[in-house]
Amino acid sequence: MSFVEAEIKKFESSNGSGTNLFYQALEEVIYSIAPLLESDPKYTEHAILERLVVPDRMIEFKVTWLDDNNKIQVNTGYRVQFNNALGPYKGGLRFHPTVNEGILKFLGFEQILKNSLTGLPIGGAKGGSDFDPKGKSDFEIMKFCSAFMTELHKYIGPRMDVPAGDIGVGSKEIGYLFGEYKKITSTYEGVLTGKPFIFSGSLMRPEATGYGVVYFTETMLDIENKEPLQGKVCTVSGAGNVALHAIEKLYQVGALPVSCSDSQGTIHDPRGVNLDLLKQLKLEKRQSLELYLETHPEAKYIPVEEYPEGGHAVWDIPCYAAFPCATQNELTELDAQNLITNGCVSVTEGANMPSTPDAIELLQTHNVCFGPAKAANAGGVAVSEFEMSQNASMSTWTFEEVDEKLKLTMQRICKRVALTAKDYGVEGNYVDGANISGFKKVADAMIAEGI
Ligand code: GLU
Repeated sequence: MSFVEAEIKKFESSNGSGTNLFYQALEEVIYSIAPLLESDPKYTEHAILERLVVPDRMIEFKVTWLDDNNKIQVNTGYRVQFNNALGPYKGGLRFHPTVNEGILKFLGFEQILKNSLTGLPIGGAKGGSDFDPKGKSDFEIMKFCSAFMTELHKYIGPRMDVPAGDIGVGSKEIGYLFGEYKKITSTYEGVLTGKPFIFSGSLMRPEATGYGVVYFTETMLDIENKEPLQGKVCTVSGAGNVALHAIEKLYQVGALPVSCSDSQGTIHDPRGVNLDLLKQLKLEKRQSLELYLETHPEAKYIPVEEYPEGGHAVWDIPCYAAFPCATQNELTELDAQNLITNGCVSVTEGANMPSTPDAIELLQTHNVCFGPAKAANAGGVAVSEFEMSQNASMSTWTFEEVDEKLKLTMQRICKRVALTAKDYGVEGNYVDGANISGFKKVADAMIAEGI
């Protein structure tokens, strides 16, 4: 049995089913870091992997709130504090009906390595609730956020754990959460990031993840001697904060983004998607993408049920570069095959773990440049750390300052990932480069801090 097989077996027995998302994330990392573990026995001697895969603590709590009909509603809230070797726990909150312990463990684990890759002093965490913001009134969202914070405030603090947004949690929800924290604790401190700019948020936090994904791609294409994005057709999935800001940056660098999608269907607009309309439909009103056709009848809307099972319409659109920015496992082996057949040159992940392991393998064996989420979408959490810095020093940076720092951070991450891959004999493999580089920094800190 090989070293890697033995490691996988060990975790298979301790983590149960091999089908869950946490296991999927873990297995990828174990395969990737094998050359590092084999080259230096200290990581095995200090049982780093065994220690890293178990969260420091997992907090689960009840959230009870009154809806607009004065009916009592009950949800479950979570915070998974995974690892704080490099700094305070840091990571988003997700409000979505699919949220459970397994999803948050996967996201929290990814966050440790992502945050390590930023080079900034932040540990890894994730949290959220099975609360579904869809169809809720503003007042209901506010009441839920207050109830959620009534319990969460006990476990967070600017030097302990600093949550932020994720799917279903934007600056509005962060505002309500902050308001409740302030009320309960009588303190005004940088305990959350992604706050509205009007009160101690950072400029450019909403744009950060999407812009960062494009900065990363530009650097990756340059390193790999591929043509830049200017004038190229790009496909983007998703229609949330990450997708829409990736589209915005793609236009700014002269590319042509022609798609976006939500859980119901895909828009394909060959002349380029209308960003203002999308922002209105999805960020302001949370409406269906189908309404796009009312003013753009020349575009195509492909409902999910009209596309063959196992694949997604958005990855069947010919493109130079693809940007999965919706959710986990949204780009399958079949989708990867379609992208390859249509001549796609690069895939960069804006969402967390949007590509299945089979899809990644296929893309890599066909030499498609592949930018993995934990490196490519780290711009969001990097600007969150900039927000923590601004809050701690009671200062405000300009849009240009934040943008410049974000760009430099994404370029640095991309170059370091590429270099690490080369150093460990897997040149061009950004998945392995990101996993080795992110893991090594956390592991070295854990060793230095003792058990
Ligand atoms: N949820 C985001 C992520 O997946 C941002 C986390 C943060 O800003 O703390 O990285």
